[in-house]
Amino acid sequence: MSNLERDPDETVAGGLATVSVAPTRRVLEAREVPLGGTRAMLVRRTLPHRDLPTVGAWCFADDYGPTELAGSPGMHVPPHPHTGLQTVTWLLEGEVHHQDSVGSDQLVRPGQLSLMTAGRGIAHAETSPADPPPRLRGVQLWVALPESDRHMAPAFEHHPELPVVRTGGLTATLIIGELAGETSPATAYTPLIGADVVLDPAGAGRLPLEPAFEHAVLALSGEVVVDGEAATDASLVYLGCGRRDLALAAGPAGGRALLLGGAPFSEELLMWWNFVGRDHDEIVAFRTEWEASRGGAATRFAPVSGYDGAALPAPELPSVRLRPRIRR
Ligand code: MN
Repeated sequence: MSNLERDPDETVAGGLATVSVAPTRRVLEAREVPLGGTRAMLVRRTLPHRDLPTVGAWCFADDYGPTELAGSPGMHVPPHPHTGLQTVTWLLEGEVHHQDSVGSDQLVRPGQLSLMTAGRGIAHAETSPADPPPRLRGVQLWVALPESDRHMAPAFEHHPELPVVRTGGLTATLIIGELAGETSPATAYTPLIGADVVLDPAGAGRLPLEPAFEHAVLALSGEVVVDGEAATDASLVYLGCGRRDLALAAGPAGGRALLLGGAPFSEELLMWWNFVGRDHDEIVAFRTEWEASRGGAATRFAPVSGYDGAALPAPELPSVRLRPRIRR
């Protein structure tokens, strides 16, 4: 999905801008962000957090829905641009139709991974299909690309089958990276893990972790106990680095959570609207090119093939210079 905010903040440095090299446990609450536009949908955003800009290269996490689609036009996000990131579209309920400027036309379903690598620039649209299931619930995640790869050609991949790890009372679907000897087919550009963990009612289990990674758990539903800490819906439990495994448990109704982790991302990042760059002037140039492409010019953002309608205009830039942030 797009960041549809009309007045997007630059991301603020501070707080846990320092990576915790030792295991820690800190619960960060989500903030509700109105996406604006014709549908005033609220999302629960945990990354970037004022106290935690990134977890590994994971730099954006929005949890949205469940939204009842009966009598509503459903999701309709017109073509909009991205740079310097990968988008991970992960649905819990419903379906989304993805179209992009590299010619992809993909129906996304729960349990399937759509991974779009923006590289130097891509545009995409996301809409509800013609006869959608009644409810939509999903997570939109972004992964920052490192300097070595962020100017690459854009790409899209769809993985309908992903490895599943079953241990104790939990079942983990491996979205990206490696877990318990399994490897996801998804392409990553930094050492990274993402897994969707479903806990049985009153179930518990341990997942092996890479000690060099920092990790966090995003609570999605039900009661999830992360290393002894009860996490409420849409909160993010930051765990630091240095863990060899993680204990997860659920209450009598079961629970569901996302495990996110990776090698701490140490490059400066500047995120504004749907762009990830490195400095103010670069973001201004991306915005200028996007606006030119909306006027029909050939730019780094090619047209979204097969989409009939107007593209999303970029918001106005703030009057101050945007400042990058870095973690140490
Ligand atoms: Mn998008």
